[in-house]
Amino acid sequence: MKSLPGKPDIVLKKYRTVIFVNGCFWHGHERCKYFVIPQTRTVWWTEKIRKNKERDSEEREKLRGAEWNIIVVWECQLKPKQRMSSLSVIESLLQQSFLNMNRRTTAPAYSPAMIAKTGEVYK
Ligand SMILES: [Zn+2]
Repeated sequence: MKSLPGKPDIVLKKYRTVIFVNGCFWHGHERCKYFVIPQTRTVWWTEKIRKNKERDSEEREKLRGAEWNIIVVWECQLKPKQRMSSLSVIESLLQQSFLNMNRRTTAPAYSPAMIAKTGEVYK
């Protein structure tokens, strides 16, 4: 699965879902205490992080285009205090995408079984 855009950390084929675990600094987690632009080379760092974020959103665009569900987990959300609640959010997101996926594939415009029954009636 190395060929997927952005090289997701976790690929759950069954759920058609990819999970990114983003480092708060490198991916520029807004309003996060772990995302602080260094005092030196500030312009360079700002530009660097801006480009990272730009690339992130391009890659996500591609994944969405290929109908992948995308979950982004931030590093800070996996710290011990927050981990359990973050994981339960992920769990419910996965359930949702699984349900959506099944809805798409098991709700055809007509039911083949019904057509077969109708055929029997006219025999
Ligand atoms: Zn963060």
